[in-house]
Amino acid sequence: MGLREFLADWSIPRQLAGQDASREAAESAASRLTRPRLEEADRVGTSICPYCAVGCAQLVYAKGDQVIHIEGDPRSPINQGTLCPKGAATFGWLTSPQRLTTVKYRAPYSDHWEDRPLDWAMDRIAHLMKRTRDETFVERLPDGMVVNHTLGMAELGGATLDDEENYLIKKLCNAGLGMVWIENQARI
Ligand code: SF4
Repeated sequence: MGLREFLADWSIPRQLAGQDASREAAESAASRLTRPRLEEADRVGTSICPYCAVGCAQLVYAKGDQVIHIEGDPRSPINQGTLCPKGAATFGWLTSPQRLTTVKYRAPYSDHWEDRPLDWAMDRIAHLMKRTRDETFVERLPDGMVVNHTLGMAELGGATLDDEENYLIKKLCNAGLGMVWIENQARI
């Protein structure tokens, strides 16, 4: 860079020449090339950080079908636009090429994991729940008291389940299946 270019890119001579120190005089050739990181986003959605019971609100920016940035939602009274390092890393693990997109399944007595589709895992979970419930359901205790419950399985909810989801889970597991041990990570 020659002296003329150096002086032209230096803020002090430009301020002396009358440029506004808080606007154009503060710019350099490099800073003029920088762009807002969300300039290319064409839509924004909302989400909740899935890592812990705090449940911080997030804004998810996308360009077309591609997520391009995730940050804290300033409208949330819980996190007020902030995210801790785990939540701030959400974009990284969402787009990481190492992200698992299939269910890892290890069959009984097997020594290795197999990749299975999520639909297969959901069907298997439903089948095992039904089988366990049928095998362990107790209508009456030995003294004749009606209990209609099963002690053969338990349910542990995640911290980012909302009120409506927890209501339905409680209804399914308790009133529907007769489960007694129902808990949520947010209380642990
Ligand atoms: S951003 Fe941090 S504190 Fe907030 S929900 Fe995620 S893990 Fe929890």
